[in-house]
Amino acid sequence: MHELGVVFHIIKGVKKVAEENDLIKIASVTVELGQVSTVIPHYLTDCWKWACDKEDALRGAELKIEEIQAVTYCEACGKTYGTVEHGRTCPYCGSGKTYLIQGDQVMIKEIEAC
Ligand SMILES: [Zn+2]
Repeated sequence: MHELGVVFHIIKGVKKVAEENDLIKIASVTVELGQVSTVIPHYLTDCWKWACDKEDALRGAELKIEEIQAVTYCEACGKTYGTVEHGRTCPYCGSGKTYLIQGDQVMIKEIEAC
């Protein structure tokens, strides 16, 4: 499952920060999840609970998910627009020369210790 890999990636990052800051027990982790990241929040939470149970520092830690809006930039007219609403074609000038500037990331935003 794709989400499980993402969870392991998050846990690895959390453990690194915990070690660097001498955190023994983690209360919650806030993750920024892009709208077009292909990660399903519901699955992510399920995998999180399962994986955290195997880690002493993370057992019972809460996963908070913040959704980040997907934004696309148009090279032709220099404007940005919502990716989910308009896709790859610029709604202002009709150009297809566009690329995603945010919204596909899964990032740790905040780690809260007990
Ligand atoms: Zn445009």
